[in-house]
Amino acid sequence: MSETYLIGLGNNDDDLRKKADCDFVSFWDNQAKQLSWFSPWEKTLDWKPPFAKWFVGGTINASYNALDIHQEKKDEKSAILWEGENGESRNVTYGEMFSQVKKFANVLKSLGVQKGDRVTIYLPMVPELIVSILGCARIGAIHTVIFSGFSATSIKDRVFDSKSKVIITADGGYRRGKVVKLKDVIDDAIKNIDFVEHVVVLERTKNKISMASKDKFWNELMNNASDSCNAEELSSDHPLYILYTSGTTGKPKGVLHGTGGYLTHLYSTFKWAFDIKDSDVFFCTADIGWVTGHSYVAYAPFLHGATQVMYEGAPDFPDASRMWSILQKYKVTIFYTTPTALRMFMKFGDAIPNSFDLSNLRLLGTVGEPINPEVWKWYFKTIGKEKCPIIDTWWQTETGGMLISPLPGLDTIPLKPGSGTRPIPGVNVSVVDENGDDLPANTKGYLVIKDPWPGMLLTLWNDDEKYKTVYWSKYENRYYPGDYALKDDDGYFWLLGRADDVLKVAGHRIGTAELESCIVSHSVVAESAVCGIPDEVKGEVIIAFVVLKQGVNYDSKELAKEISNKIRTDIGSIATPKQIYFVSKLPKTRSGKIMRRLLKAIGNNEKIGDVSTLEDGAAVTEVQQVFDEFQKSIKSNLN
Ligand code: ATP
Ligand code: MG
Repeated sequence: MSETYLIGLGNNDDDLRKKADCDFVSFWDNQAKQLSWFSPWEKTLDWKPPFAKWFVGGTINASYNALDIHQEKKDEKSAILWEGENGESRNVTYGEMFSQVKKFANVLKSLGVQKGDRVTIYLPMVPELIVSILGCARIGAIHTVIFSGFSATSIKDRVFDSKSKVIITADGGYRRGKVVKLKDVIDDAIKNIDFVEHVVVLERTKNKISMASKDKFWNELMNNASDSCNAEELSSDHPLYILYTSGTTGKPKGVLHGTGGYLTHLYSTFKWAFDIKDSDVFFCTADIGWVTGHSYVAYAPFLHGATQVMYEGAPDFPDASRMWSILQKYKVTIFYTTPTALRMFMKFGDAIPNSFDLSNLRLLGTVGEPINPEVWKWYFKTIGKEKCPIIDTWWQTETGGMLISPLPGLDTIPLKPGSGTRPIPGVNVSVVDENGDDLPANTKGYLVIKDPWPGMLLTLWNDDEKYKTVYWSKYENRYYPGDYALKDDDGYFWLLGRADDVLKVAGHRIGTAELESCIVSHSVVAESAVCGIPDEVKGEVIIAFVVLKQGVNYDSKELAKEISNKIRTDIGSIATPKQIYFVSKLPKTRSGKIMRRLLKAIGNNEKIGDVSTLEDGAAVTEVQQVFDEFQKSIKSNLN
């Protein structure tokens, strides 16, 4: 039995779930009515598997729902409380955002951008990034944001794929006190691309750049633009954006999202999950380069007219107290971050967060990876002081918004550390076997989504065939997210890691998350990643990579023994790794997720494949070295 924590925010609406269970289509139909539409839809759902169209015939605009509707009462309300990495701050009101977005929409028009054209955005985390996004949405241009840590080659691939005719960038951005020269990267990326007509350059760092004839300064264009621009009436299925996935399992996929369904999904989940109130100060640490930043930074808070904090730089710059000092400074009430970030904060110990006033917090959230129960409990006790519910939100770039999560804004149920609890209302999720048959409780299998949902991707950009193969070919007419999971006796879902990474040892299947959680629950371990490598006798054996907490001095042989004993007791001897390697960091994507496939490739002496989304090449080199040394030592022992 896992521990439970009954902690809610006083909401208990059973009715909504009942309605959703009865008829998910009319349920979402009602939800959509909370948005402002120019004209109503004729049909709620047009489902021609695997293509879904929501609110067919309705017309809507995302930027209108984000800004125009708040103007009467919200002209003085802060939309963005921005904190620069160097300590600067800006308070951007809803009124200012409105005027900036309309001006920028006119700038785009003056550059020849029309409805349906693609615009690439490669900006640091500054308010102008959201202005660019909402400016595109206002005129129906499809934005494609690229995380500002990507290199020229990655940008080139994405710009080629989307055929963007305009790029929005900056001279530079700050990261760990240094200037990242974004404009130089763009110059390099597009040097042989002739279809890019204009590059708009925001001056953020004032570093020296070269300006070619297609380059124009943001400020000059904005100074000449009018701030009168009506929002385009767009059909509900009009594409809002293309976003490439994190690339944890391979080459990123260009996910295409629509408008009406996507906004409905965001509006509802933001309310249910975060219990958003007018007085809240919301802070999501995700970079807008990733889907969490699109859905729950650039769009959802605006749909609700909420105030949010936006931070430009690295979470541990200039030191490990930065996040907590931001929470204190802006009196943040709702904090949404990743397990990776939490593991890093936890590594630095409790004294740092304990020295800040975090008493305004009332709700905490995580997304991106399974959260180990150990880390969940730390978050709950040390950051939330045992008074904030934690929402562990499971979703993907493709799903648009949360699909499995506790919803303290809707109802109060006991929380179990490490479980995302139940699906959101109106979404039909199940755990099935290889044949697609529903599995009984407590049996591990594959997560599937049985019916379409409003935030669902339209397709993969320019690649309907790949869309069909990746998500819809394993099970007929059911969406396959590629994650391994189980549902317990209470109907709670436990995400156990990627289906591709599942360990198969002597006929048993073990999700990576189960084993990694166990290893991380050792008091000196900060992070861990496990993978399987072939073994002549057992078919597959497990190897584990372990990162220790800061300042820990430990005899590695002793510690390996302790960890193995812990695994034997908690999971069973079947799961004990053949070898445990101690490293200083793990290979991760730029969105902070562990790339187990690289470890697996190293363990199998294979080529490591596409690494364009890898954050730090040094992590791979270190893993490779540690592994090679171990192989050598085995050989010399044999001789
Ligand atoms: P790619 O699809 O290119 O490999 P990616 O899957 O990492 O990249 P995202 O869409 O950013 O790209 O991540 C979604 C995935 O992240 C989910 O499929 C799941 O594996 C993991 N994930 C997200 N949130 C959670 C969570 N709360 N618990 C467990 N896993 C999660
Ligand atoms: Mg994925």
